[in-house]
This record gives sequence, structure tokens and C-alpha cells, in this order.
Amino acid sequence: MKIQESVPLLPFNTFGLPARAPNFAEIHSLQDLREALRSGIRPVFVLGGGSNVLFTRDPEGLVLKNSIRGIEVVRRFKNRIWVRIGGGEVWHNFVLWAVQNGYGGVENLSLIPGTAGAAPVQNIGAYGVELKDVFVGLQAVDLATGRLRHFSRKDCRFGYRDSFFKKEGKGKYCITSVTLSLTIQKHRINVSYGDILKILEAEGINQPGIADVSRAIIQIRSSKLPDPAKTGNCGSFFKNPETDRTVLERIRLTHPNVPSYELPGGRVKIPAGWLIEQCGWKGKRVGNTGCYEKQALVLVNHGGATGEEVKNLAFAIIGSVEQTFGVRLEPEVNIL
Ligand SMILES: Cc1cc2nc3c(=O)[nH]c(=O)nc-3n(C[C@H](O)[C@H](O)[C@H](O)COP(=O)(O)OP(=O)(O)OC[C@H]3O[C@@H](n4cnc5c(N)ncnc54)[C@H](O)[C@@H]3O)c2cc1C
Repeated sequence: MKIQESVPLLPFNTFGLPARAPNFAEIHSLQDLREALRSGIRPVFVLGGGSNVLFTRDPEGLVLKNSIRGIEVVRRFKNRIWVRIGGGEVWHNFVLWAVQNGYGGVENLSLIPGTAGAAPVQNIGAYGVELKDVFVGLQAVDLATGRLRHFSRKDCRFGYRDSFFKKEGKGKYCITSVTLSLTIQKHRINVSYGDILKILEAEGINQPGIADVSRAIIQIRSSKLPDPAKTGNCGSFFKNPETDRTVLERIRLTHPNVPSYELPGGRVKIPAGWLIEQCGWKGKRVGNTGCYEKQALVLVNHGGATGEEVKNLAFAIIGSVEQTFGVRLEPEVNIL
């Protein structure tokens, strides 16, 4: 483990933004992490794959790039396994490992960029499945004391793109491993979202397995979302707002086709991408940034953008949606 000074973070964030870490260390083990903490450099910012951060300035103190790897089956039950994944493991590589070994539960989370350690931070979700659905527990090092702490599912307080680690626990821990529960047989196949069923039917697959679902989702995501290797982005920039039914009814007066999803407790979720599109932002370019032409929820760096530019665009969109619909969008991306 070596602490380097003044390291450019452009290669370490999928928006491709030009920040610089005053101090930077890549950690491959718990020992590396503790050694880095012993340097006394504070504050500490834990970085995974950089696929959910917007650097509007240089971080202060020490940036720790989590590269703690490893996938290990730690318990076997009749129809389940518990698998422990190193916090720096690439999430999609783990999903591929699970699918190849016939373990079910994470196939709907295929091709989400980033690391396993960041997955609990916003309770990653896609195509009707969230991390919390397979979550058992995690281990994290308290950045103030260096002590290892276990977090149960309850401790993590998962919500929609939310957890303890985005609230009181923000910036206080480095998640070093995550334990998930996967099925060995009798998998719960979930093809109810998006175009999964359409793709499988076109392939003549009536009784899909986990590998079929994963493949279909990879296909859909590759066609709909910009590849960060070519166009800088962080996926969905905003959360889908959850509102009272009265808000939806009011919008319906002027926009009878407004899409919505029922939530428990009589509340509703309105797709943020639809709201943004109605305000004319889809495909719009502002300087070096813009709103992706195939999905208004995704903000992109067309090349040479700064974090400040992306943030200004995001706030212009928030203002325009609020003015038009009386709904305030909340960023999903972590803005630094
Ligand atoms: C093209 C694209 C598509 C995407 N699609 C989805 C999607 O479908 N669903 C979804 O939920 N997300 C999606 N995302 C967002 C992103 O992939 C996830 O949020 C992912 O979990 C971020 O992982 P990361 O390692 O890149 O985290 P980073 O961006 O490095 O970090 C994100 C936050 O987590 C903190 N953090 C990172 N690692 C740790 C750790 N080990 N311990 C403690 N804190 C940590 C960081 O400090 C930061 O605040 C998408 C992003 C892109 C670019």
C-alpha cells in the first residue's frame, strides 16, 4: 500500500471529470486499509468504481480506492448459499460468477457498473430487484477508529436508492465485504419489468432460467444506456419521485398520460425521466454536457465537461420540473 500525492481522478470516475486527489491509495486488503488510516490523513473518501459520484471539486484528505477482491461461499443450506464478496470486487463480475455457477437472485442486477462494496450504499436496484432482496449482512471499517463492524440488514436501513450509508453513516465507513443469499434451485425468476419478456419471447424462450434473464437484461441495458467508456455518465442522475396521489391527479389534468406506479400506503412513484422529457430536456446539449437522447434521466459528459457544468445542468432540470409539475427531483448521484 502506497499513498501517492496529487493523483488525477479522471480515470477513476465514469463521468470522466477532472478532479485530483491530494492523497490517493489503492487498498487490496483490510491490512492495507488500516495502514492507510494510520497515516492520519483526514478526511477519507472511499471510492469504488466511481460510477455514482459527481466531482464538482477536488476531494480533501485521502481518497481510498477499494480494490479488496474475493468471492467465497461461506455457508451452504439445502436450497441456498451465502456468498461473501470483497468490497472492491467488480459487481458485474460477481453477477456473472453467480449466473455461471447456477446461483439465482442477482441476475436482474446484471451490468450495473461499480463495486460490490458500494452496492449497499444506495441499495442498487434494477428490473424489479434490489440488493436488499438478497442481502444478509456486511462488514465495514469505521474510518475514525479502524475497527471492523458487522451490519445486519436491519442496521443498513435500506430504502429506495437509500441506506444508512447515505445518511448518518455517510463518509464514516469503508465497506470491506458484503454477504448475500443466493438460491441453488427453484430460482425466483422475475421477468415482469421492462422488455425482458419481449426479448425472451422473440428468442422462443418460454421457461427462462437465470442465464436467460441475465442475457436479456445485458442486451436491453447495452441498447438503452450510454457506455461510460465512450460517453461519460453515472446512469440515472435523479431518483424517481414518490408523491401523494393528489399530486398525480393534478398532473393528470394537463397530462392525462402521465405514467405512475402504485406504492404501499397510497403513495405513487412518477418516472423522473418522463417529467424531464416533458420539460423538453431529452437530447438537449448545454455546453459540454447534456441529457442523453435515449433516456432523459441520464446526464452525459460530451467531452471536456466539468463537474460544475453537470451540476448546473442538473439544477436547471430540477428547477424546470418543479416549475412545470410542482415536483422536486432529488439527485441519485453523490455530489461532492
Ligand atoms: C451506465 C450506468 C448505469 C447504472 N445503472 C444503475 C442501476 O440500474 N441501478 C443502480 O442502482 N445504480 C446504477 N448505476 C449507478 C452505480 O453503478 C451504482 O450506484 C454503483 O453501486 C456505484 O458503485 P461504485 O463502486 O462505482 O461507487 P462509487 O461511485 O465509487 O461511490 C458511490 C458512493 O458510495 C461510496 N462508496 C463506494 N464504495 C464504498 C465502500 N466500499 N464503502 C463505503 N462507501 C463506499 C462513495 O464514497 C460514494 O459516496 C449506474 C451507473 C452507470 C454509469
